[in-house]
Amino acid sequence: MIKVVKFGGSSVANAEQFQKVKNIVESDPSRKFIVTSACGKESHEDHKVTDLLYLIQAHIQYGVSYESLFDMVVKKYTSIKEDLHLSLDLEAEFQKMRDILTKNDTPDYLVSRGEYLTGKLLAEYLGATFVDAAKVIQFHYDGTIDMKRTGEQLQLYAKNHEKILVPGFYGAMPNGTIRVMSRGGSDITGAVLANLVNADVYENWTDVSGFMVVDPRIISHPISIPRITYAELREMSYMGANVLHDESVYPVREKNIPINIRNTNEPDHPGTMIMEDCSAMDKLDPPHAITGITGRKNYTVISLTKAHSSTEIGFLRKLLSVFEKYNVSIEAVPVTVDTYSIVVQTHLINHCLYEIIGELKEQLKPEDIRVEDHQAMIAVVGREMKQRAGISGQLLSEFGRNKINIRTISQSSYELTIMIGVSDDDFEKAIRAIYEKFVAEEKKE
Ligand code: ASP
Repeated sequence: MIKVVKFGGSSVANAEQFQKVKNIVESDPSRKFIVTSACGKESHEDHKVTDLLYLIQAHIQYGVSYESLFDMVVKKYTSIKEDLHLSLDLEAEFQKMRDILTKNDTPDYLVSRGEYLTGKLLAEYLGATFVDAAKVIQFHYDGTIDMKRTGEQLQLYAKNHEKILVPGFYGAMPNGTIRVMSRGGSDITGAVLANLVNADVYENWTDVSGFMVVDPRIISHPISIPRITYAELREMSYMGANVLHDESVYPVREKNIPINIRNTNEPDHPGTMIMEDCSAMDKLDPPHAITGITGRKNYTVISLTKAHSSTEIGFLRKLLSVFEKYNVSIEAVPVTVDTYSIVVQTHLINHCLYEIIGELKEQLKPEDIRVEDHQAMIAVVGREMKQRAGISGQLLSEFGRNKINIRTISQSSYELTIMIGVSDDDFEKAIRAIYEKFVAEEKKE
């Protein structure tokens, strides 16, 4: 059994967190490949090392002194080193950083030092072999990861070592310069390694015990989701539930490797398993009808109506192509006979709304066109919904019972998600009502 384990910034924020990581790694010998983020926040007032490094970079760019920020980074790593009695020559590492900074090297080099230094200290503390991500993770010039070369490099460096630690978030371009991924990219590093070593599971350790059924800012202490399919996860994260970097799913999904989201501060909690197919486990432990409820506020709905347009071939295409022309991404298109609603995020359309309305009027000649702002979209996601009749009926009656007006509703025949539009003011109330009915009540039974 091989596990790739990735620890997020909060899991390595200080010496105490390092100790928890050590316990986790040592409690299971199959945890052979370790990936780490840079030290995150220790407390609310603290700063993520990566944020500090980006700030230092901005100071350098504008010629402002960055010493006090650099000192904060030095302090963070020095205190971890001292608390854990490690021997890494941090002075030399910081000197190397300063030398390169003054030579005006790429910003990516500086920003990657968070993961690099965290990785160096953690590897020493765990007794693992440190392998610089610049030696392993290889990018193509277009910024995508060269899996073939990365695999070869990993073979080369991982051979004959029992435990390997690779810092997340960065790698090297074909010419050897360092390149960082987008924010949160250590998730991708972990997923790439999991793919290359054919891991049995990719454990992603963070500070929550898996995905919650609903945002804890709306329902306090909601239950967590024991299992979720990749497809459900995509629906949930697209609509705002974020624990994992989006791009980290592809490398593991390709090889059908489950991702297990775990909590470093609650290591006995099984967290959430993300899998291609949950059916075998669902048989043993039937899931709720609804896997998760998520959503976002601040949508604009543009609705138009024109008699007999439903039988006019190409009408919908013409309608959508106006949005395409202005490069506006559409979230949902609820349609009834001769009326169409286009749901878009308000911030994406604000700058071109009047142009779009003008073109719609000119090209489609609708009888009526209206624009409504402050709309929210709620996604009710669940693989179980297609097995059970009556879920949407119950859902709608719950809205009725709570006197929440539904503005739009849509569901595809895959029946994985029901999207319901309500006004922004009803957003939280609607989510609470759905949670109460489909999760809290089912749990009580
Ligand atoms: N340290 C980087 C960030 O803060 C990458 C990561 O944590 O995954 O975005």
